[in-house]
Amino acid sequence: MPSQVSTHISIPYFLQRGGELGELIRNYNWAETKLGALETWPQILKNTLSIILKSKFPMLIWWGPDLILFYNDAFKPYLERNGKHPIALGQRGEDGWPEVWPIIKPLIDRVMSGGESTWSEDQLIPVYRDNKLEEVYWTFSYSGLTNEDGLIEGVLVTCAETTAQLQAYKEVNNAKNELEFAIESAELGTWDLDPVTNRFVGNTRLKNWFGIAADKEIELSEATDLIEASDRQRVLSAISKALTYESGGSYDIEYAIINPQTLIPRYVRAKGKALFNQDKQPIKFSGILQDISEERKAAKELKRNRAQLEQTYEQVRLSKEAAMLGTFDMDLESGNLEWDARCRVLFGINHNDKVTYEKDFVLGLHPEDRDRILDVINKSFIKSISNGDYDVEYRTVGAEDQKVRWIRAKGKVYFDEYDKPIRFIGSVLDITDQKLDQIRLMESAEKQARLAAIVSTSDDTIVSKTLQGIITSWNIAAERMFGYTEAEIIGKHISLIIPPSRLKEEDFIISQIASGNKIDHFETIRIAKDGHEIPLSISVSPITDETGKVIGASKIARDISAQWAAQETARRYTERLEIMNLMVETISEELDLNKILQKITDATTELTGAQFGAFFYNNIDEKGESFLLYTLSGAPKEMFEKFGMPRNTAVFHPTFSGQGVVRVDDITKDSRYGKSSPHFGMPKGHLPVVSYLAVPVVSRSGTVIGGLFFGHPEPGKFTKEHESLVVSIAAQSAIGIDNAKLYEQVKLLNDKKDEFIGLASHELKTPLTSINGYLQILSRLKMDDKQQRFVDKTLQQVQKLTTLVNDLLDISKIEAGQLQLNIQKFDLKELLNDVIELIQHSNENYQITLNTTVENCIVNADSQRIEQVLLNLLTNAIKYSPGANTIELSLTCTAHEVQVDVKDFGLGIPENKIGQIFSRFYRVEDLNPTISGLGIGLYLACEIVTRHNGRLWVNSEIDVGSTFHFTLPLN
Ligand code: ADP
Repeated sequence: MPSQVSTHISIPYFLQRGGELGELIRNYNWAETKLGALETWPQILKNTLSIILKSKFPMLIWWGPDLILFYNDAFKPYLERNGKHPIALGQRGEDGWPEVWPIIKPLIDRVMSGGESTWSEDQLIPVYRDNKLEEVYWTFSYSGLTNEDGLIEGVLVTCAETTAQLQAYKEVNNAKNELEFAIESAELGTWDLDPVTNRFVGNTRLKNWFGIAADKEIELSEATDLIEASDRQRVLSAISKALTYESGGSYDIEYAIINPQTLIPRYVRAKGKALFNQDKQPIKFSGILQDISEERKAAKELKRNRAQLEQTYEQVRLSKEAAMLGTFDMDLESGNLEWDARCRVLFGINHNDKVTYEKDFVLGLHPEDRDRILDVINKSFIKSISNGDYDVEYRTVGAEDQKVRWIRAKGKVYFDEYDKPIRFIGSVLDITDQKLDQIRLMESAEKQARLAAIVSTSDDTIVSKTLQGIITSWNIAAERMFGYTEAEIIGKHISLIIPPSRLKEEDFIISQIASGNKIDHFETIRIAKDGHEIPLSISVSPITDETGKVIGASKIARDISAQWAAQETARRYTERLEIMNLMVETISEELDLNKILQKITDATTELTGAQFGAFFYNNIDEKGESFLLYTLSGAPKEMFEKFGMPRNTAVFHPTFSGQGVVRVDDITKDSRYGKSSPHFGMPKGHLPVVSYLAVPVVSRSGTVIGGLFFGHPEPGKFTKEHESLVVSIAAQSAIGIDNAKLYEQVKLLNDKKDEFIGLASHELKTPLTSINGYLQILSRLKMDDKQQRFVDKTLQQVQKLTTLVNDLLDISKIEAGQLQLNIQKFDLKELLNDVIELIQHSNENYQITLNTTVENCIVNADSQRIEQVLLNLLTNAIKYSPGANTIELSLTCTAHEVQVDVKDFGLGIPENKIGQIFSRFYRVEDLNPTISGLGIGLYLACEIVTRHNGRLWVNSEIDVGSTFHFTLPLN
């Protein structure tokens, strides 16, 4: 290694401005080297050194046969980095830079051996840097340094490290490759438009998409023609726009290409950029094309999926809503509970505030269900027991509305990896209706079972049938009642037990039932299997299905034979009672003995059900001789006439002697029968009598009036009941007969009295007339006052007597129907005035007035008789008003009749007596015992007015007075 020598020699020219290396070379002790001192160096070396030391390019020189190394400042860093600077300077290349020697030695050799200069580009020459071999690329030239003799003595190496460039290039290349790869792998089309020529260039893929042959070049318009018609204009506008400087050159658009061969649309996205020159003219427009068909499809698919999802979600929501499903979600770690609106409704909550498990859920549970549900929930929280499943039914009591609801809750508890429950989610559904239905159904099933038990064991006949009348159930009682077994009759038509004449009833029953009505206690008749009729009371109710539709009828039937029998008996009794009452009434009202007897016979014959009946009775005529009369019922009298009267035979004796009743079921078998001659039993042709009943009729005095006899051709027809009936009627009859007989006697006496009155008054009339005549003569004779007064008084009394006798005679005439009327026209008003005057004359202390508006009143009547009526009424008015002094008369006249009223202010007549005062000889004695009279005046007045076809009546009030009215017809 040459040592450094410090020599202060002047700097040789070739080392001037030679930098650090120039300095080093200058100070190097070259003399000790083969090269010798600086001054001895060949010119070429010196010249070359001068050049390289000043150069900024890294340069070096391999000199001489030993290939000694010289380098400049620019090269220094390469050697510095591996610690060779400055040691390598002046060293043999082989020694100083062994690691590169194998690479560069051949190059040097080639140049040294007279070969061409070499130029190596980007030659990899690894160098040691920081103790590690680094790949360093060089571009260098080796050129020979030729001396004056033309000999190559050294090699000049000019070099530049191209590692960085190479790296950059490599990177660019890589980027380019990557881009191509990306373009390739992204399956992009690339395009490039020359805006000037409008030439359109694309890669193979792009051309393929456009259906253009790979080797063909096209105009832009040829490409745009292949864009889908609806997109084309939009694309052209976008291109034009991108080619304007103002747009910034950006181009980004999606459109469809229609491949001319396949006609299949391909959706693409074109992105590009236009470049402009200083004149703002486009010079380049290029970009890529991306096939987005798949993307589009995917987007479409996505859209569809999303729509489907949304639809599904909506469906879920709707079905949740439709199912009225509520949801709950409880975070078991935080205890947070979420209830949706429906869930809140099911717990009777109206608000939207937070809900809690304890307050809202637990307290919302029905107290009867609470423990059970909490137990289930606790188990749901234990994975090993429930696997988190929760499915329960419970009741809630509405927090606000207090309503009880049935809920079905289903849910799931979620657990963490340690099986700790973390979340509890589920749904709730209102099942109140179903639950209630279920309960109802259960109850109704139970009821039905109970009912079935009742029906089958009931003593009542219970039958059900369809609306078509087909029998569907038949209990034991029905079997008993009708004789058909259940097996026999189920499925048969109900008409089997209905009498044909009553088939219409069934139509009525069905129509009632079909319209949902019930029939209560309908009395009818049905037929048993053996044909006998059963009187029944039936109640029919509709049978409905669960929807309430009537599907059949259920009948409960009760045998009412006994009831009917009782009713029949009651009816018969009532009827008999009625007949009896009627008869008793008739008997008591009727006074004609014959009629009474006939009625008794008819009634008793009917009541006993006898075919015929007879009443034989004793009668005593005026001469006191007894004879037998009879009445018959049920057979013509002739039937008996030829047999004569019943005789006192053994059979009849008990009756006629009043011993008692004879009632025999079959008289022909009776010991008393057939004992007497000549017939020894019933005469031939006699009504056939087998059942026999005879009842004596005995009067109150004990005399046997007669006997009632009844017969029937069949045996055993008369019962104890019949007997007692006839006995009681016989007793009543006896009274009636007694009365009738009495009446007959009274009537007889009455007739005699009338006869006497008639006779007596007639006999009295003749002497009275004579007395009257003589007195008249006497009154005309000269007598003193006293005598005269006596005669007048006598005359007055005779007059009274005459009137009395006349009245009595009139009565006889009336009784005999001989009261003659002498009808003539006369003025009633005049007559009234005359009568008033007459009466006023002898009763001066009475004021008698006539009140009338009638001028005259011509009537067609017997004036004497009407005068008699007026006199009677006026006399009575005065006679029966002792304390009063006024009598008012009035006369009124209508088109048809005239009416006269006589009003007094006297005693009046008791109301209950008014009806009788017009009877013969009737007087209201107790009221006016001191007022004398015979009680015939009003009787005559009434007869006279009635004979005139007029009316006579009275209105009266005790102690107020009486008004007698009578009318006479006009014309
Ligand atoms: P007599 O007057 O002779 O008794 P009548 O036949 O004239 O008979 O009357 C019958 C009865 O009617 C009388 O007894 C009297 O009780 C009653 N009577 C008749 N007219 C009147 C009258 N104006 N006021 C009260 N009672 C009368």
